[in-house]
Amino acid sequence: MNKPRIVVLGAGYGGLMTTRKLTQQLGVEEAEIVLVNKHNYHYETTWLHEVAAGTINHNQARVMLSDIVNPSRVRLIYDEVVKINKDEKQVIMKNSDISYDYLVIALGFETNTFGIKGMKENAFSITDIDSCRMIYDHIEYQFSKYNNDPSPKDESLTIIVGGGGFTGIEFVGELAEQVPKLCKKYDIDRSKARIINVEAAPSILPGFDKGLVEYGKKSLESRGVEFRIGTKIQECKENGFVVGDDGEEIHAGTVVWTGGVTGNSILGETGFEITKGKVTVNSDLRAPGEEDIFIVGDCAWVMNEAEGRPYPPTAQAATQHGETCASNLKALLRNEPLTDFVFNDRGTVASLGISDAIGTVFDDVKLQGKAAATMKTVIDNRSLFMLGGLKLFLKKGKLRPF
Ligand code: FAD
Ligand code: NAD
Repeated sequence: MNKPRIVVLGAGYGGLMTTRKLTQQLGVEEAEIVLVNKHNYHYETTWLHEVAAGTINHNQARVMLSDIVNPSRVRLIYDEVVKINKDEKQVIMKNSDISYDYLVIALGFETNTFGIKGMKENAFSITDIDSCRMIYDHIEYQFSKYNNDPSPKDESLTIIVGGGGFTGIEFVGELAEQVPKLCKKYDIDRSKARIINVEAAPSILPGFDKGLVEYGKKSLESRGVEFRIGTKIQECKENGFVVGDDGEEIHAGTVVWTGGVTGNSILGETGFEITKGKVTVNSDLRAPGEEDIFIVGDCAWVMNEAEGRPYPPTAQAATQHGETCASNLKALLRNEPLTDFVFNDRGTVASLGISDAIGTVFDDVKLQGKAAATMKTVIDNRSLFMLGGLKLFLKKGKLRPF
């Protein structure tokens, strides 16, 4: 008899954790496991701002899938999913098709530009390894070009970042450390290079602990980051943003949008009911009305019933979805009852460069400065350990002195 086939789409935190747990929990005869991913590597999405600012090399943030997934247990397909035919239980990829008995959709996020004029066309975004490598190459080019330009414009050294959520703030934190190094490398006066963050809400990191936000803002300002708070971006041009009601233009040589994310657009194209780009899943993480399709990570809205709203899309949640999803797949195969997903909130820590951070952990313990930065490194290393064990931690872990 043929084994049932479980196909996992996407090798981010959700897909990889599902796959890893399935290989640990299922016998070889119980199911065939297939992992489909666009690239032959997984990347640490939570480190992408460091790649974009040049703090780390892109190779540190990525891991070959064949190094962490046993190819004799899991069939690895490196291809791009273009469509899911639910009725035929089939996934269409660029170069091939595959049928499934059970499907896990873990295709992650896409940048959301909310239809802002010119944003898609003109701004960089922190989305994956390729997009971040391009950001850093562009920034370095602006600096290397400056002294070779017969009529250099100082604004070519300005980096403007739209959106002061966690991604935007972590990115300007890295820039605050890397820009002085670039100035030194290319013999440029530090005062000529500007880092500007533009946020529509009355504060950066809206909704986060006020005291920590105040600390973070002051720390970044003391290292040269300028903030335009309560300033809505109306349009993006090749050379900067148009902001506010009076059409003020802020010019820059590098324009980056970190103003929001949404679920993978394949969800809508597949015919799921979509809310703000994602599918609101049942408490067992299955798509509504689907017996054999799970949706995890940034593609899923998982309701926080106590607060009556969905949990924010994070790596922490995606990893935990993967654990529940794998154990529910095991339960389905063994005709056992499925369990509800329960989020275990371990807190939030945001880096502000290598040696500074802010965060709340362990039921509201507040951390800032080096203690928070150390905690962030511990979290980053733990994530590697959970996905690839000691071998991966030793190969790619962050062993940073502060
Ligand atoms: P992803 O990590 O996005 O993985 C999706 C995978 O699917 C990728 O491998 C991608 O290549 C693949 N894929 C996509 N489309 C296709 C396709 N069509 N075909 C085949 N493969 C495809 N969260 C935290 O909890 N803590 C943090 O510190 C933190 N820091 C962050 C820092 C940054 C700069 C960013 C951008 C996000 C951060 N987040 C953090 C949020 C977190 O990274 C996401 O919530 C998390 O990555 C979601 O995991 P996922 O598995 O759903 O998707
Ligand atoms: P976000 O939605 O959290 O933040 C986007 C920010 O852009 C918001 O503050 C919003 O007010 C602002 N914005 C939107 N439109 C704007 C406009 N027109 N003009 C100016 N500002 C505008 O998105 P994100 O920062 O990419 O984060 C995505 C998810 O990833 C979140 O759930 C976040 O918690 C998670 N994340 C977590 C960490 C961490 O835990 N360290 C780091 C990065 C991201």
